[in-house]
Amino acid sequence: MRRPAARSRAIGGRASPRPSGDRPSEFRSAGGHTCPPVDWPALVAAARAAAARSYSPYSRYAVGAALLAEDGRVFAGCNVENASYGLTNCAERTALFKAVSEGARRFRALAIAGGTARSPALPCGACRQVLAEFCAPSTPVAVAPLRRGAPVVRALGDYLPFSFGLDGAR
Ligand SMILES: [Zn+2]
Repeated sequence: MRRPAARSRAIGGRASPRPSGDRPSEFRSAGGHTCPPVDWPALVAAARAAAARSYSPYSRYAVGAALLAEDGRVFAGCNVENASYGLTNCAERTALFKAVSEGARRFRALAIAGGTARSPALPCGACRQVLAEFCAPSTPVAVAPLRRGAPVVRALGDYLPFSFGLDGAR
């Protein structure tokens, strides 16, 4: 469910594709989205810190997410499991619901930390759709291994092309 179908190439190479000494620059995703620059080390660190708070006694699969709002606030979330498995909430949705409930509705970037470099915690289908409610297709999403290693960045629109939506939302 969280395994990559194939090891797809990072968008713009690895995250932090910054020219030496410069601020990170925008990049073009594999799906053709122009993504804004992001301070990935800080956002990935926030996602990893959130993963440390994961409540995952059943799967023992900790995931953290950190969502950067347009106003600069970072909302972090972890996966929260339940004995009734279907009630489990993913880290990405925890972060998003926290953000929306605190008044943030526009976002610049998302970082997810979980899994390993070979098998990182990619966002599930439900989270992709929920993120698409509030995030533009060009929103960059970094997926990083839980412990260490560089993230791979793709655009949300690469993860979920042709997403479902209704006019007039937000
Ligand atoms: Zn999910």
